[in-house]
Amino acid sequence: MNDSNGARRDAALDRRSFLAVTATGALAAAAAPALRAAAAVPTAAPTTPAVAKAPAPFELPPLPYADNALDSVISAQTIGFHYGKHHRAYLDNMNKMVAGTALEKATLEQVVAAAAAGGADQSGLFNNAAQVWNHTFYWNSLAPGGGGKPEGELLARIDAAFGSFEKLKEELATAAKTQFASGWAWLVADGATLKVVKTPNAETPLTKGMKPLLTIDVWEHAYYLDWQNRRPDYVAAVIDKLLNWKFAAANLAKA
Ligand code: MN
Repeated sequence: MNDSNGARRDAALDRRSFLAVTATGALAAAAAPALRAAAAVPTAAPTTPAVAKAPAPFELPPLPYADNALDSVISAQTIGFHYGKHHRAYLDNMNKMVAGTALEKATLEQVVAAAAAGGADQSGLFNNAAQVWNHTFYWNSLAPGGGGKPEGELLARIDAAFGSFEKLKEELATAAKTQFASGWAWLVADGATLKVVKTPNAETPLTKGMKPLLTIDVWEHAYYLDWQNRRPDYVAAVIDKLLNWKFAAANLAKA
């Protein structure tokens, strides 16, 4: 029997494990904002917006790239207003609305779901909370050096649902171009199949039993400074140059 040796080994292991965990924890805490930002670049896209797990008061998650990183399609000026003003305003409004309520400690998804279930009485909260979620999802749906073609399981599912990747791009462009007035075009997983859907205003597939994989914001504030009335050109450029298929694949993997 070598209980004492075993006990020493265990103690040593415990100490090493403790030190490793402590060091990791300290590093993670110190570097949390940087890690969140790094995790959102296209090679390692987060599958859930960082804000989703934050307790209220909710915070604006960091943009997953520099504000000029998409400027072949979306200028830093547009990002400045869209992320810095519009997204921020939805967040500030939501925080005011949930302050002092049971939703103060909920996740963002829970706030969106509760507001959607609340009907007309909760439409203000729904509009702001859903727009917070939609915008975080949109920033992660785009990436500098994006576009290109998905691969693997995602491509197989696209081929099965749409016939080809080219057909999916056509459907997504049509949805984005034909969404009347403000709204969103989405690639979603709906049960076992993939679909393209469009939603008006703040509406989101999240509350319709679907799993969003990618989205394109077609509110005028998303493109007007850069493209004016040429929404089809903005949509085509986003699809060709910015869509983050790694983010879509990660979302599909957990759908
Ligand atoms: Mn927007």
